Amino acid sequence: MIPRPGPSAQTPKWQRALARAITDPLELLRRLDLEPDREPEALQAHHGFRTLVPESYLARIRRGDPRDPLLLQVLPQGAEVNERPGFLADPVGDRSALATLGLLHKYPGRVLLVTTGACAIHCRYCFRREFPYGELQASRDWGDALDYIRANTGITEVILSGGDPLALPDRRLSELVRRLDAVAHLRRLRIHTRLPVVLPERVDAGLLSWLGTGRLAHVVVLHANHPREFEAPAAAALARLRSAGVTLLNQAVLLAGINDDPDTLCELQQAGFAAGVLPYYLHLLDRARGVGHFDVDERRAQALHAMLRERLPGYLVPRLVREIAGAPSKVPVPGDPAPRAGSDPVGDGGARMFSIG
Ligand SMILES: *Cc1c(COP(=O)(O)O)cnc(C)c1O
Ligand code: SF4
Repeated sequence: MIPRPGPSAQTPKWQRALARAITDPLELLRRLDLEPDREPEALQAHHGFRTLVPESYLARIRRGDPRDPLLLQVLPQGAEVNERPGFLADPVGDRSALATLGLLHKYPGRVLLVTTGACAIHCRYCFRREFPYGELQASRDWGDALDYIRANTGITEVILSGGDPLALPDRRLSELVRRLDAVAHLRRLRIHTRLPVVLPERVDAGLLSWLGTGRLAHVVVLHANHPREFEAPAAAALARLRSAGVTLLNQAVLLAGINDDPDTLCELQQAGFAAGVLPYYLHLLDRARGVGHFDVDERRAQALHAMLRERLPGYLVPRLVREIAGAPSKVPVPGDPAPRAGSDPVGDGGARMFSIG
């Protein structure tokens, strides 16, 4: 084999792309031909949770449209500094679910390893915006987390999460995966990641040198909220993952102004399927501090979900869930009966129907 290159000699292309990502909201607006005038609160929001947008994602945002649904996921808004009752720093009880540093054990049979606090994009609605990564992250050699997993033979699946696990270099990930492979009671390795969608360069030979190989079945749960996120070059990256034998699923968050309409939600599932991805969860927003303006109320979420059930084959309908701190699984949001034919439960007429019903 070729000896390992020196640290800077061969930085992978994706790491260089990540280093070039946009971190200035005014530059983001300028690049999209938008007015860079901004309210001071929007700048304050940026300072609280830094802007981060890779070029590949930027290329899929429509120029000149301040309401573009991809832009709204990443552009800091003044509304983020508004406090709202019920919107908390740790909305899903992560802190109390720590089994050991960096390892969350909330549900039987599976554990979630917080591998890194880094991401390739900063999503304004993120529920882990305030997760104390520095303080609660696993140790560099994953020692305690691995000990816990080895000692608990009921665990069959390890989920690599973060942040975004694929923000770590392949050297560290392949070493971790090799050690997990050696734990006999594990059957699956799951990776929760947004990188193949937002930074498709990440799916390179280095990643495929370990992903999809080994004893464990590999499942990648992507995170895309709008059908345009599946466009090229993401589609090609997903095809590479598929041909490596990786099972691809998608979880989305229901977000006001971004995907809370039937056409967008339907197209999201169909565009995903065309890229080899089956829908997994549609999450109600986790109520983190500063994300209240993205919230879609439960009645409307149920109506949208009923519409999806009507319009799509069953296998393209994601499960509508919310996370409740302390619950033993993600909690299904009970379904509304399907809307009557000809009714319009998600348009204005529907809103009226619910408000009087
Ligand atoms: C969401 C989550 C999981 C995964 O739940 P599934 O229903 O299996 O997708 C596991 N552990 C933690 C801590 C989670 O938050
Ligand atoms: S990629 Fe995931 S963890 Fe990172 S900011 Fe977006 S939602 Fe949060």
